[in-house]
Amino acid sequence: MKIALIAHDKKKPEMIALAVKYKDCLEKNELYATGTTGKLVGQATGLNIKCLKSGPLGGDQQIGSMIADSDLDLVIFLRDPLTAQPHEPDVNALLRLCDVTQTPLATNLKSAEIMLSALRNNEIEVKK
Ligand code: PGA
Repeated sequence: MKIALIAHDKKKPEMIALAVKYKDCLEKNELYATGTTGKLVGQATGLNIKCLKSGPLGGDQQIGSMIADSDLDLVIFLRDPLTAQPHEPDVNALLRLCDVTQTPLATNLKSAEIMLSALRNNEIEVKK
């Protein structure tokens, strides 16, 4: 399964904690991330992650392109709803494409935990 990890700056500690907690199930999958998120999660967990560009520099669009091609199975995007983002249009486009392509998307920690628990318990099927 191909999984994308993205976290806005204030949510990166949550993403790292999530990846540590679910390392056992994440490591069985193909992981993609925006640049800084991928670097930090990789350093903290040793997980093998394909790092794209940093989000504000086009990483969200790269992930969005994969979603448009139905090339991702799960997206975990820990958004910071309280801070304005310079790349808000890219963020919105990515979220929209998840809905267009019926790609499962978690935008907060509790949703991500439900998603990864289901993955750990083999309750999520690959869509293709
Ligand atoms: P980053 O990008 O992982 O490179 O910080 C995330 C984002 O802000 O979209």
